[in-house]
Amino acid sequence: MDKPRAHYHPVKNKRQFRNTLLGWFQENAKSYPWRETTDPWAILVSEIMLQQTTVASVIANHRFENFLHEFPNIEAISVASEEKVLRAWEGLGYYNRVRNLQKAAQTILQDYEGKFPSDAETLETLPGVGRYTAGAVSSFAFDHPAPIVDGNIARVLSRLLDYHKEVDSTEGQKVIWKTAGELLAPSKARLFNSALMELGQTICSSKSPACLVCPVQSFCQTKSPSSLPIKKPRKKFVQIDEHAFFWIENKRILLSRGHDSRRKGFWKLPLRSPEECSHLDFLSQHRYTITHHRVTLYLYHAKPPHLLEDEEYHFISELSNLPIATPIRKILSAKVSELER
Ligand code: SF4
Repeated sequence: MDKPRAHYHPVKNKRQFRNTLLGWFQENAKSYPWRETTDPWAILVSEIMLQQTTVASVIANHRFENFLHEFPNIEAISVASEEKVLRAWEGLGYYNRVRNLQKAAQTILQDYEGKFPSDAETLETLPGVGRYTAGAVSSFAFDHPAPIVDGNIARVLSRLLDYHKEVDSTEGQKVIWKTAGELLAPSKARLFNSALMELGQTICSSKSPACLVCPVQSFCQTKSPSSLPIKKPRKKFVQIDEHAFFWIENKRILLSRGHDSRRKGFWKLPLRSPEECSHLDFLSQHRYTITHHRVTLYLYHAKPPHLLEDEEYHFISELSNLPIATPIRKILSAKVSELER
């Protein structure tokens, strides 16, 4: 593909750049539920939710609306039990996000008398709120001139600048955030940040940037968009084998409560060492990925012979209201259906 040549530098011609981008956005803005509101709580929820979950998945499963239905404001989530909060987040993974969301709501109630801070600097002091999220809430909810840089914006800016160093290094972050701040339309921060983000989501995509129809092509300095951005090597997945007991009595499944860092607060199958399971009836093998772990789970048809020190067992008949990691919930449902056949 021949990429059109740039005629202007985006930073040196920022007023022109802003007008071009905003003009395109006015005609092409997509409608998302979180764009229909300026409620800072709803915007914080959407931003935390979208950190590790795709827009398509959040929309398709009505995750945003369902979560706000359960917790419409900071007061509602502040007093909720951990079990209820985790259950409402089930399927989204990375559960520390929702734990921090609850802590952030409690902090706003306790330290700010329930009044949501509007400036990015204060927002960034809340639990689980990083620089991006702080800028997003400040600009989307309050229209304050706070720049934002997420993965989409970093990609667009690295291409606009033809930046050939790692964008996620300290130096790269400095350059990209500085550019985001310089380009930002100060009196139209909400629109501008949404527009830049949407350009990255739709036109300036990572695999096949549509430069021929890009509204800001005449500002874009790179000749090789597909080679940008340059990033640090990715964190590798950790492979884990787990061995678990599966036992049903009177249609109730024996589950234990996790206390380790990976499963804190969640219900799971009782786990033991491979040696403890080696003489048992092997039932099935399952593979799933969770956070940075690739797990192979071996199931054995047996009741655990003893309790571990920090383990609680319960026979559970109704799983739907309990927090259970999605892959485990699927395995349990499949096993129960098999047994009922
Ligand atoms: S799609 Fe991206 S790489 Fe292509 S011209 Fe637009 S900003 Fe540049």
